[in-house]
Amino acid sequence: MAASGQDGIYPGDAEVTDDVELAGVPDAFQRLWTPHRLAYIKGGQDKVTSEHTCPFCRAPHLSDEESLIVHRGTTAFVLLNLFPYNAGHLLVCPYRHVPDYTDVDDAETAEIAALTQTAMRVLRRVSNPTGFNLGMNQGVTGGAGIAAHLHQHVVPRWGGDGNFLPIIAQTKAITQTLGEVREQVATAWSSDDDPARTTP
Ligand SMILES: [Zn+2]
Repeated sequence: MAASGQDGIYPGDAEVTDDVELAGVPDAFQRLWTPHRLAYIKGGQDKVTSEHTCPFCRAPHLSDEESLIVHRGTTAFVLLNLFPYNAGHLLVCPYRHVPDYTDVDDAETAEIAALTQTAMRVLRRVSNPTGFNLGMNQGVTGGAGIAAHLHQHVVPRWGGDGNFLPIIAQTKAITQTLGEVREQVATAWSSDDDPARTTP
């Protein structure tokens, strides 16, 4: 049997469409098209052309309340993500405007790791998450919102937090304002720094 579009067994190119009658061969996947997200991501990337337009370079020059910073270290600092996946979603950033994990020196590497551990301890004390996602998205292709300035995500997780809302309504239910969360986390962080703290 000839597998040809000419013999009437297989449809010709003009007849091959998906459910919304766009050209192409249908497959088993359903797709949620979000072109507005691409415009948003690309728009954000285009604006970060140098240290002068980088929000992570600007943040340390602002007050903690304005920048959502919860802790300032020696080579790195910690702030709330302005677009959180969950309440308490933190970012650990080196002060230096470097894009790649291989760009950070030994002191920065050690402090980013230590701040990530403290962030987990502090978030456990503040909001009792049952899990975490930690990680760095490297490059635009890797999903980094601001690829030019390295940042480590610390995302607290609770059972059932990934419900249907983000998927069908593009809505994430977050029940606290960023200001309230910053205040709670910053206060808990100060007590974590306390040398009198007995917990290792
Ligand atoms: Zn920067």
